[in-house]
Amino acid sequence: MESDMVMHHGGCHCRRVRWRVQAPSSVVAWNCNCSVCSMRGIIQFMVPSEKFELLGDSKECLTTYTFGTHTAKHTFCKFCGITSFYVSRAFPDGVSISLKCVDPGTLTHVEIKDFDGRNWESSYEREFAPRSQGAVSTELEETEALVDDIDGDMPVVIGAAVSNGISSEI
Ligand SMILES: [Zn+2]
Repeated sequence: MESDMVMHHGGCHCRRVRWRVQAPSSVVAWNCNCSVCSMRGIIQFMVPSEKFELLGDSKECLTTYTFGTHTAKHTFCKFCGITSFYVSRAFPDGVSISLKCVDPGTLTHVEIKDFDGRNWESSYEREFAPRSQGAVSTELEETEALVDDIDGDMPVVIGAAVSNGISSEI
């Protein structure tokens, strides 16, 4: 299951926003049909924020769209409009990387999974709940990290389980 950690580079279309991220060469990416993911056509994989680094003066070329709880930061390039990465609501310490904004050559394998974000609760149960059944303490449950988009539509389980409380606004 483990694959080598490599340095991926990527960014927006006009290349004013550039970043690098340390992540496996093989990743699982999520194709979500929720309101914002489907409009943007984003397929994303998650990384811890400490693995992600904006390069140069990229920050000055970014702007941010928020809605709902305004916790997630849907960052995009002011010039070309491309969302090459963003920060999700339930995993604000992490970064969601847009798969198609990664420079070619370093991703050796990508498993794309569909997530039915329009039916978040049932999709979550189906895709992620089984993994959380091993959780032994309620304490753990509260510290487990769920990554989702701002609507709670796009979860990626980083730790173990998730409480439904943060799961959805839909
Ligand atoms: Zn750009």
